[in-house]
Amino acid sequence: MVKNKKISKKAFDESNKYFPGGVNSPVRAFKNVNSLPVFIKKGKGSYIYDLDGNKYIDYIGSWGPMILGHADKSVISSIQKVVKNSTSFGAPTLLETTLAKLIKRSFPAMEKMRMTSSGTEATMSAIRLARGCTKRDKIIKFEGCYHGHVDSLLVNAGSGAATFGVTSSPGIPNDLTKHTMSLEYNNLEQVENCFKRYGAKIACVIVEPIAGNMNCIIPSKKFLKKLRTLCNKYKTILIFDEVMTGFRVARGGAQEVFGIEADITTLGKIVGGGMPVGVFGGKRKYMDQLAPNGPIYHAGTLSGNPVAMTAGIKTIEMLSKKSFYVNLENKNKKLINGLCALAKKHNIDFTGNYVGGMFGFFFTKNKKICNFEDVSNCDKILFEKFFKIMLSKGIYFAPSSFEAGFISIKHSDKDINYTLQCADETFKMMSNI
Ligand SMILES: *Cc1c(COP(=O)(O)O)cnc(C)c1O
Repeated sequence: MVKNKKISKKAFDESNKYFPGGVNSPVRAFKNVNSLPVFIKKGKGSYIYDLDGNKYIDYIGSWGPMILGHADKSVISSIQKVVKNSTSFGAPTLLETTLAKLIKRSFPAMEKMRMTSSGTEATMSAIRLARGCTKRDKIIKFEGCYHGHVDSLLVNAGSGAATFGVTSSPGIPNDLTKHTMSLEYNNLEQVENCFKRYGAKIACVIVEPIAGNMNCIIPSKKFLKKLRTLCNKYKTILIFDEVMTGFRVARGGAQEVFGIEADITTLGKIVGGGMPVGVFGGKRKYMDQLAPNGPIYHAGTLSGNPVAMTAGIKTIEMLSKKSFYVNLENKNKKLINGLCALAKKHNIDFTGNYVGGMFGFFFTKNKKICNFEDVSNCDKILFEKFFKIMLSKGIYFAPSSFEAGFISIKHSDKDINYTLQCADETFKMMSNI
């Protein structure tokens, strides 16, 4: 039970003097749920502790990376060892090759790759590469998919018809986003029509092959297959943005889950083991177009940073243990099936999704959630109530109904049972209001 938040409140007042909204990334401000953020002091396993000494079960996991839980012993000790030899060289080390080998073992489609310092950099560079290789400008993305804060990808466009980019943020010239077409997720017909009309001009399709930035939506296999077929037909590059899903939904990401390969894949989050990392990689013929082999530019002072590589290597090694993902998904299954059963008991319209270590839940009568519009139609007020009461009981879910949740291998049966007990009480209170 969370008692006091005094010190967190004070810390937030102070941080507001220095950072817009008091934070360095918007969702952390808890604005969507009209709450104040919790200031974190430390984490261990499935738990985080705030400045006031409250303990929470963490279902955000730094938005995905912390699949081993916080402060995993072997990750921490490998980082401690490597920092003794300096923290950056801006020159090649063996660590980069080691991590690349581990990645390629799970993502064979990434024949060659490049390290970056964030997922945003990875998707930005992947788009540039696709445009450079095809000598085409237009790109397709899907509404509700997030690919980092890249200018040409911060485009929502209207729902329904394929509309040319209206930016989601001021400061992005229309001249830039006019090449971005935003289509409805899971809508085969729309993407087919778009290719019929513009196919020969489309450089790439970028998609979250399991969407995790509009809550958690698992697409139909048909949809992803259609993208693969259309990209082959029109010589368009298919980019799977697996920054979130890579090593999260399965060791080989959504590509392993669906058995469909992308031409270029982007990774991040887990592959950095909690350090700032992104990766983009794919077919050799494309990757070798990058400087210094080819004319397409990509660089980074801290790309392949030895500390970040080390955290990634150790994390992926730990994931390679047999039955890791079976265990992980079983925890998720228990959580989501449990939440659905409890909501039903209290007559609350609710549904949930899970795959590997990623989950989503929705306050809706709708049994199937397919796209951004479906998520937008869910009951945000009920979500906010649920979030707030759960937080007060020490359950730290994502503070927005548009975010996925994450479970770590350290979440115990006891943690999940406690979460379900809190949800039982919370749903009961909600149904009495
Ligand atoms: C988090 C995320 C990004 C951006 O990664 P950053 O490291 O935050 O820049 C890109 N794509 C997807 C699918 C993501 O989930």
